[in-house]
Amino acid sequence: MKKTGVYIWCCGVLLLTFITQSCSGEDLIAEDRKKNLFNSQTDLTKKSKNFYSKTEPDTYSLTDRFKDESLLTLPCESTDFGDVLSGYFESLLTDPAFDFDLLNYYLELNRKYVTFYHGENYYGENGEFNKLAEKRIRELTKFWDLNREIRLNGQHNSFLNDREILTDMIESFDRTVRNRTEAYAKADLLLELNKDSPNFPENPYFAFDAFTKSNGLLVIGDGLLEGIMDTGIDGDLAFTAVLAHEWWHQAQFEHEDTWDYTDQLSNPTEISRFSELEADFAAAYYLAHKRGATYNWKRIEEYFRLSFNVGDCLIQSMDHHGTPTQRLSAAELGYELAASAQKKGFILSPSEVHFAFLEVFEDITK
Ligand SMILES: [Zn+2]
Repeated sequence: MKKTGVYIWCCGVLLLTFITQSCSGEDLIAEDRKKNLFNSQTDLTKKSKNFYSKTEPDTYSLTDRFKDESLLTLPCESTDFGDVLSGYFESLLTDPAFDFDLLNYYLELNRKYVTFYHGENYYGENGEFNKLAEKRIRELTKFWDLNREIRLNGQHNSFLNDREILTDMIESFDRTVRNRTEAYAKADLLLELNKDSPNFPENPYFAFDAFTKSNGLLVIGDGLLEGIMDTGIDGDLAFTAVLAHEWWHQAQFEHEDTWDYTDQLSNPTEISRFSELEADFAAAYYLAHKRGATYNWKRIEEYFRLSFNVGDCLIQSMDHHGTPTQRLSAAELGYELAASAQKKGFILSPSEVHFAFLEVFEDITK
C-alpha cells in the first residue's frame, strides 16, 4: 500500500547531533532558564507573557531532544561542519534575545510554511541558485525519469522578517490566533524583537531544513547551504549535491513496493541509515556521470568532503543518517559506479543503481 504524506528528514532535525558534540546539554537547558529574558522582563502584549506560545505540536521539539541524554555523549569523528554549526548555536545562545520558546516557534513556522507553500520560488538568500536550480531540475528529471511531479521549495531566513509572510505563517499555523488582524499584531511584535537581535531570524539555523515528502515536495534551506559553504565547499556543488540527494528519496518513494530490502532491516534507525546512504551513493552517481552533472574530480572530491562532514553519530536514533566514514564510503562507491559505467555512455535506471547499492551496503556499514 502506498504511504502518503511521509517525510524523510535529511537535515534540520539532525542539527542537534553537532551541537551536542560540542556543548553540554545540561548547560544549554540551564542557559534556557536563565536567558528567558523576554518572558521575565518584557510584556509587550499585556495579555500573555509568552505571546509566541507554541504552534500545534509537531514531530520535532528541540528542548525535548536536549533532555535525551543518550544523544549527548556519543563518540564520533568531529567534522568542520560540526564546528561551523556549533558556532552558529553559540551565537544564538549568547544573544540577549535568546529564548527556546521563540526558537522553536520560528523553526516550526518556517518549516510548516515551506511544507505547505505553493507558488513562486527562489533559491539562496538572493536567488543566487535560481539558474542552477532550473538546470539541475531539468537534468535530474531526465536522468532518473521518475513518474511523479517533483517541486522544490526554498526556505529562507528572510521569511521570518517579512511582515506579510510572517503574518501568513501565523495566521495559518498558530492556533492561538483567530484572524488576520491578530496575526498582524503578533507579527509586528515579533518584528520588533527581531530588530534587537543579530540572530533572530538571521542565524542560519532558522533555515536549516532539507527534507523530502512523498507528495513530491523537496525543501532546501539557505542556512544549510550556508553551513556547508562555511566549511569551504563550493556553493554550486553544495546546492547540487543536496538537491540530488533529496531527489533520490523520490525514487525511493516511487519504488517502495519493489525495493523491499528495508523490510529485512530490524528497526527505524537501520532503515533511515540505509535510505540516507543510498541517497548519498545515488547522488554521487549523478554528480560524476557524463550525462548527469558532469563534475570534474576537484568537485567530486569536494562532494566526498561534504559527505564526510554531514555524517552523524546518532547511531541509536531514528534520525541516524550514517557516520561520517560511512557517508564518505557511500559517496566514493557511487562515484566509482559512474566511473565504471559511464564509458558505456548510458545511464543506469534507478532500480539498477538501487541493486548496485545493495551489493556494497554491507561493506559500507560493517
Ligand atoms: Zn536524505
